Amino acid sequence: MNKIKVGVIGATGMVGQNYLRLLADHPWFEVTYVAASPRSAGRTYEEAVAGRWLMTDPLPEQYKDLIVGDAGDIDSAKGKCTVIFSAVSLDKEQVKELELAYAAAGFAVVSNNSAHRHTENVPMLIPEVNHAHVDIIPAQREFYGWDTGLLAVKPNCSLQSYVTPIHALREKGYQVDRMIITTLQAISGAGYPGVPSYDMLDNIVPYIGGEEEKSEEEPLKIFGTIEDGKFVYDNSIQISAHCNRVPVIDGHTACVSLGFKGEKPELDEILEIWENFKSLPQELDLPSAPRQPIIVRYEADRPQPRRDRDMDKAMAVSVGRLRECKVFDYRFVGLSHNTVRGAAGGAILMAELLVAKGYIK
Ligand code: NAP
Repeated sequence: MNKIKVGVIGATGMVGQNYLRLLADHPWFEVTYVAASPRSAGRTYEEAVAGRWLMTDPLPEQYKDLIVGDAGDIDSAKGKCTVIFSAVSLDKEQVKELELAYAAAGFAVVSNNSAHRHTENVPMLIPEVNHAHVDIIPAQREFYGWDTGLLAVKPNCSLQSYVTPIHALREKGYQVDRMIITTLQAISGAGYPGVPSYDMLDNIVPYIGGEEEKSEEEPLKIFGTIEDGKFVYDNSIQISAHCNRVPVIDGHTACVSLGFKGEKPELDEILEIWENFKSLPQELDLPSAPRQPIIVRYEADRPQPRRDRDMDKAMAVSVGRLRECKVFDYRFVGLSHNTVRGAAGGAILMAELLVAKGYIK
């Protein structure tokens, strides 16, 4: 198979570097274009990331001599790729405009940015949860008058740690209607150089701007439905979130208490549902799909970021500590890798789904 040519904008950043690392040997995609800010544009990729390549693997040879484009200059991507993975840090309005402009120019845009997460005809995907939402693409294309262009976004990087386990229960008919979530989020989630070391060492910061709103609102769209070419949110779940930045490099943890409306499953049944959960990415055997999307840990002190974040290509969600809750019904701890499953890896899986569904040729 001829590989699909992809570009990464924001390629020099934390998420961009993860894209390049994960795409280095990808069976379907080949990185043929990289772009970043005007500060990096015109340099080779090796020069642009000199002294700030943050991956533990060395910079793959194939990227060293790529000339970095200016992400704001859409023309420079034309003819070089058909898919754009977007991981630029710009203000929200600028990102909105830029991503729409790339899609209007015919690119399939798959984004990590939050700018379009609540745009009414843009799918926000966790492929194991709401893969059916990609079927809004024809309505999206019709609305904007795009031919090959499309826009799909990833949710916030901590969400899959609790949304995927909750989805598995909802799919079996159990109506979760309330959740309290306390996230413990890694410093890589703030990019590089991120949070000052003086704030992170020997400390916890109990505030991440905008993060609690994202944790409370984004699941409602993910659990929603498509009506008349737009997403209708599922407002039957109430979520209250506390988001904390903790001194962990990678891996977002979420401590969750949840309540059910109507019948609730037994503890053993929940474990069985999680153990057996599989979805379309597994059925289609997509290259980045974890074989088992939810891994249950039975030890009293797991999951832990350092021990569990890399499970199954760092794409699986680990859950543990399932027990009764004295206020709600049950509580558990979920964990996933924020820059892989929660960012670049999750977006690559979305692009694979869009290929498998025929929306990216
Ligand atoms: P980062 O490490 O700060 O990287 C930012 C990237 O944006 C760099 O490539 C930078 O290029 C580029 N950039 C900055 N200003 C620009 C401009 N004016 N024009 C074009 N490009 C510009 O940030 P990150 O952590 O990778 O995050 C990137 C995006 O993904 C953000 O929107 C973030 O919210 C989102 N996200 C991050 C995570 C995570 O876990 N880190 C997870 C999910 C989503 P230069 O190197 O040239 O400055």
